[in-house]
Amino acid sequence: MDYDTYGSSAIELAIELANTERTDPGWARAFLSSHVEWFTPGTSFDLSPGEAHKAGATAELVRAVALADTQHDVLERLNQLLTLARPRPYATDHDGELHLHYARPDAPVLEQLTTTVAMGLSQVVVQHGWQRLGVCSAEGCDDVYVDTSRNASRRYCSNTCASRSTVAAYRARQKG
Ligand SMILES: [Zn+2]
Ligand SMILES: [Zn+2]
Repeated sequence: MDYDTYGSSAIELAIELANTERTDPGWARAFLSSHVEWFTPGTSFDLSPGEAHKAGATAELVRAVALADTQHDVLERLNQLLTLARPRPYATDHDGELHLHYARPDAPVLEQLTTTVAMGLSQVVVQHGWQRLGVCSAEGCDDVYVDTSRNASRRYCSNTCASRSTVAAYRARQKG
């Protein structure tokens, strides 16, 4: 599988949103500020508490899609997420690569975020299958991931979790 054919990594934004800690009230602004490349330059990142709550609900829905283990549940949750999207796609080469943006450029940041995340996630699910989404197998980690490996063999959210688990398994064997 090659996501280059898809031409965008919007699903990575969705996954990162789902895995973001949301205990700090400023989490949404911090998240947006560390993903500026996804938003039209000049877009305000000031979210009302209500908007931050909606961004959190979007994050929860992405996670729910990744955790679903039947196609029926995937469809239900994905469509719930898509009702929040306001797609108005346009093509751009602002970073040198021709690709699509899903939300109108002058939309408020919450609309840009929700639309990009919903469209990016749905594209991958319908093109590559919902089985490509999963939850990390490392002990103590429940982050979700999208599996872009050729043979769909991914089990961990990150290299950190993968090597931590390898070390733990090695130690367990040594003990035994
Ligand atoms: Zn772009
Ligand atoms: Zn992990």
